[in-house]
Amino acid sequence: MSYKGPRGTYDVFPGGREPHERADLWAYVEGRAREILGLHNYREVRTPVFEEVELFARTAGEASDIVVQKEMFTFRDKGEREMALRPEGTPGAVRAYIEHNLFKLAQPIKLFYVGPMFRQERQQRGRYRQHTQIGVEALGTSDPLVDVEVISLLYAIHQSIGVRDEVVHLNNIGDMPTRRAYVPELRAFLRKNAAHLDPDSVARMDTNPLRTFDSKHEATQAVLAEAPKIGAFLSPEAADHLAVVRSGLDALGVPYELDEQLVRGLDYYTMTVFEAKSGALGAQDTVGAGGRYNALISDLGGPDLGGIGFGSGVERMLLAAAARETESALNLFFVTLAPEARVPAMRLAGALRAEGVSCDLDFGGRGAKGQFKQADRSGARYAAILGEDELSRATIKVRDMASGEEREVDVSGGSVELLRAIGA
Ligand code: ATP
Ligand code: MG
Repeated sequence: MSYKGPRGTYDVFPGGREPHERADLWAYVEGRAREILGLHNYREVRTPVFEEVELFARTAGEASDIVVQKEMFTFRDKGEREMALRPEGTPGAVRAYIEHNLFKLAQPIKLFYVGPMFRQERQQRGRYRQHTQIGVEALGTSDPLVDVEVISLLYAIHQSIGVRDEVVHLNNIGDMPTRRAYVPELRAFLRKNAAHLDPDSVARMDTNPLRTFDSKHEATQAVLAEAPKIGAFLSPEAADHLAVVRSGLDALGVPYELDEQLVRGLDYYTMTVFEAKSGALGAQDTVGAGGRYNALISDLGGPDLGGIGFGSGVERMLLAAAARETESALNLFFVTLAPEARVPAMRLAGALRAEGVSCDLDFGGRGAKGQFKQADRSGARYAAILGEDELSRATIKVRDMASGEEREVDVSGGSVELLRAIGA
């Protein structure tokens, strides 16, 4: 029997070469993101990776990829409830916000999450069946300056890890009055040109014609280039909202462009929508995306309050960032030249680790040569050599791996001198 990881998944493992296979890069991205999220006063929310299927289906909407393309991994639990692995983070976070009455606290509630999302789709570069998103939800307000904060936060996280050639595409898809004015115009236009549209777009023309803008089909895009633009239909509130968001982004120096063809894949968006794109990616060039959802909280049984959020795929963030070598974290490797030295080395290792110094030793019973090779491969800055001579004198020899310089250190009184010798 031989097993392979499920289709569309990947492993993070020592020796992984792709950026998303490297644990050091994951830790780096998550660390930077958490730091920046903290600077913006966002707090962590953790929700289950599965919820009732209805929560996701209802929020994404019947015209979404998640529903139309049947992207959800669903299963029936023993109580015959239809469950799904979460395809995205927003529904769970909003559900928790309502369930725990967070709307009764001072608003907005600013949340972030980091975790796996599951979508049954065709694997391509930058597209997996399990991927990880770093996302935020700012709940309980419709203040356009929150949109500015959320978009600039997405950009700041990307920039801090070195995402290249990034521009934020921005649009306002309006409030209900805007949609009521615009959607019939767009639908009428699409009907007139239905012969040139792809079948998905024809199907969406009735349910949610805005979603046709998402089509990758060339002829459909050619038709849409001539379609009525939403900008001309914005209600005064929507137009004001967009103006404030733009001036805020200008003030913060976030590079963005207004993109009137930008709609998003989920039905719950209202007003502001955005996608951060990188020129360093191929076909899947959206690194992170989001939007405002002013009807979602009430739709899920909460009060009539607005919210806005983004989700950013860590795999794509890593692909879009410049290659990076992270330094080895290992400080010291023990080389033992006699079997009797192994337990004393282990004791010293314990003392060093207790002081916060990382170290390792040989567990394979290798000879001296093998151990030095291992010390070298480990990337440790120092080797500490313990043989019969050193044992008899209660010392240890410390070698600087870069310069080759060696010195003997007294360990009769414990690890103090050893710590000093390696500058710890
Ligand atoms: P796409 O147009 O690429 O299908 P989407 O609109 O489905 O994206 P969102 O639902 O907005 O994507 O998800 C937010 C982010 O999560 C995306 O910008 C991307 O970085 C990441 N993402 C989404 N689906 C996948 C996937 N299958 N594999 C890897 N990352 C993904
Ligand atoms: Mg998708």
